[in-house]
Amino acid sequence: MNSEEILKWKEAGKLARNALNFGKTLIQNRASMLDVTESIENFVIEKNGELAFPTNLAVNNVGAHWTPSTKSKEIFHTGDVVKLDVGVHIEGYIGDNALTVEIGSDKYSKMIEASREALNTAIEIASPGVNVGIIGQAVQDTIEGYGYRPIANLTGHGIKRYNLHSGVSIPSIRERGGSVLKSGDVVAIEPFVTDGAGRVGGKRNSNIYHLRQVRKIRDEKATKLMMEIQDRYHGLPFAERWLHSIQDDATKSLQKLIRSGVVSYYPILDELGKGIVTQSEHTIMITSSGVEVLTA
Ligand code: MN
Ligand code: MN
Repeated sequence: MNSEEILKWKEAGKLARNALNFGKTLIQNRASMLDVTESIENFVIEKNGELAFPTNLAVNNVGAHWTPSTKSKEIFHTGDVVKLDVGVHIEGYIGDNALTVEIGSDKYSKMIEASREALNTAIEIASPGVNVGIIGQAVQDTIEGYGYRPIANLTGHGIKRYNLHSGVSIPSIRERGGSVLKSGDVVAIEPFVTDGAGRVGGKRNSNIYHLRQVRKIRDEKATKLMMEIQDRYHGLPFAERWLHSIQDDATKSLQKLIRSGVVSYYPILDELGKGIVTQSEHTIMITSSGVEVLTA
C-alpha cells in the first residue's frame, strides 16, 4: 500500500470517529431517531465524506442492522441501550466504528465496558502473523470475565476499497483454522456482548438495502433508480431514505427492484435470547510492527 492510500484510510477513519462522537451527543431521552441519524449523516457530507453504509441504531435487544426510514417516528427513551454504528468513506476508503450509550441510567455500564475492553484486548494482540482465532479467544475470555457472553455469529471483518466485508472475519469466540493477519490489512474489530443467548437472527426489514445484481427490467423508472444506485453506492449498503433525493416516488421503484431480485434488504438482527446487547468497534490497519487504529 502506498503512502497516499494510507492517508486516505486515515482520513476516512478520522471522519468516521468524529461523526460517531458527534452522534453520541445527540442520543438523548425523547430525541427522534430519524433526526439523530440525519444529523450524523449531514455532518459527514458537510465534511466532504460519504456514507459507507446507512447510520445504524440498534436499541436494547437489537444487536445490529437497523436504520430509520423516511417515515420512522421512533424516539429514544431513558434506559435505552443504544449501539451507534457509523461508516464513512472517502473515495472508497472506509472507516467503520461503533459505540454504545445507555441513556440516563447505568444499569448496563459494565456490559458496555466489557465490549470496550474486549475491543482493546483484540487491538493489543493484533499484529502481522497473528491468527484471528487467537483474537477471538481473547475477546471471549475478556467478555466472560465480566460475566457475559460474546455474540458468536457477529464478527469483525476485513475491509477493502469499496468493500465493507472482504475475506477475513474476526471472531468474538475461540475458533480454529482462521486466517492470519498480514501487514497492510485493514480490519474492523467489533465485539458484541450480551446477557442473552449469544446469537442473533431474524427476518424483519432493517431499511438497509444492497444491490445484488444489475439486470434488464421492464420498468423505466426502476431501471433508472437501479443505475443510480450502482453509480452512487458502488455496491455498498444504502438506505431507503437516501433514494428520495434521486427520484420522486422512489419507494415504488425500490419495491419493484426488490421484487425483481435486483435489490435485497438486510434483516434486523435480534438477540435470540432477548438479551441486551452492547458493541464497540474500531477500524485498524495492520502495520509491519503492529497496528494503527484508524478510527481513534
Ligand atoms: Mn460498524
Ligand atoms: Mn463493522
